[in-house]
Amino acid sequence: MTTVEAPPSHLKENPWEMARSQLRRIAGLIDVSDSMLNVLQECKKCVSVSIPTRMEDGSVHVFEGFRVTHNVARGPAKGGIRYHQDVTLDETKALSMWMTWKCALMGLPFGGAKGGVVVSPKELSEDELQRMTRRYTSEIINLIGPEVDIPAPDVGTGPREMAWIFDTYSMNKGYSVLGVVTGKPLEIGGSLGRVEATARGAAFCIREALRKEGHEVAGRRVAIQGFGNVGRNLALILADQGASIVAVSDSTGGIYNPDGLDVAAAVEHKRTHRSFDGFDGAEAITNEELLILDCDVLAPCALEQVVTGDNADKVKAGIVAEGANGPVTPEADQILDERGVLVLPDVLANAGGVVVSYFEWVQGLQEYFWKESEVNAKLNDIVTRAFAETWREHEERDISMRQAAYAIAVGRVAEATITRGLYP
Ligand code: NAD
Repeated sequence: MTTVEAPPSHLKENPWEMARSQLRRIAGLIDVSDSMLNVLQECKKCVSVSIPTRMEDGSVHVFEGFRVTHNVARGPAKGGIRYHQDVTLDETKALSMWMTWKCALMGLPFGGAKGGVVVSPKELSEDELQRMTRRYTSEIINLIGPEVDIPAPDVGTGPREMAWIFDTYSMNKGYSVLGVVTGKPLEIGGSLGRVEATARGAAFCIREALRKEGHEVAGRRVAIQGFGNVGRNLALILADQGASIVAVSDSTGGIYNPDGLDVAAAVEHKRTHRSFDGFDGAEAITNEELLILDCDVLAPCALEQVVTGDNADKVKAGIVAEGANGPVTPEADQILDERGVLVLPDVLANAGGVVVSYFEWVQGLQEYFWKESEVNAKLNDIVTRAFAETWREHEERDISMRQAAYAIAVGRVAEATITRGLYP
């Protein structure tokens, strides 16, 4: 027998403990009763499934998957599906709780959920991925649905996987169910603007935060970690608005040019070479170096727990915009706060995705689709309003933007829970 050592996980702390301790801190601040805290600090439902999948060599590999519902007091559960080798049940639970707060902060009629499969998707062929996705969907088919729980893309998944989930669910129902999943390709009921929505929402938040400091986006120096859906689109949107994107990275490393990168060329280079290796007009940097570069805005848009107690005192950006979920640990949060760095928390800064997912769900239910300009204008309204509400709470209570966002969101979920009453 051979023992294969698991590669080290990117998770340094247990994200579920992190999420719960964030909640407990807020509960103390906003007068949430112990009974209410008992309800909010648990997930409504956690399901673990095995996903037997036929591989190209004829063997069967059994993947492990999860779907977690945190809370449905304000509406059906909503949350993405992550394909990554480090996925754990506790990470999925934390992400589902963050979805509850994010939807509440944005004023959407949704609760929070999340799903994940322990898999390194780049190592599977497209057919293997499709078989695995369809079997995972079958295993959770009674948990999801337009009125119950609506999945969406997350790390390692995108429109292609959402199309397979939509088709598997619809085949089982016998008719097309547009509202079962969001982030679908346009041809089968996706929304215009959904692909860029998370990045666009982050860009709106960065714009508002810079305005508070009397600055414009144009001319600001921005470093972005992660070059997937969120990071790549954020780089393109901010560059288009005149920002200087000084660094970008993917899981293998990054590139840096203090005078600003040619973002379109970086996108093209990454598309053709699948990495930034050999990119002209920039020097290679590590992901660790990117986080502590001299810049105005740092946007971690990859995975959790990259800004920690070890490097928070070296971050030079004045604004940290959490494009990713949970990239700043609580210890780092405190250090950044004490140093006067403005952290735009994930539940605010990356909520654009779920807002346009909400629009996609509404459009699907009505079978009536909107223009892209309409989608983007409505997204701007919702994110800008949430930013203003969070800012007001931040100033009035003299608390961080994260605490302010949580105070609003947790308060709304608690209120909905009280209003509905405890069943039975
Ligand atoms: P993605 O899979 O499209 O891209 C992830 C990117 O991160 C890739 O460029 C990958 O190379 C990079 N990466 C992976 N491991 C890394 C590491 N250790 N160091 C540096 N870079 C690394 O995923 P995405 O959809 O862009 O999601 C990124 C983050 O944003 C996640 O935290 C996700 O939960 C969050 N988010 C995504 C959405 C969405 O709509 N896609 C919405 C809200 C939040």
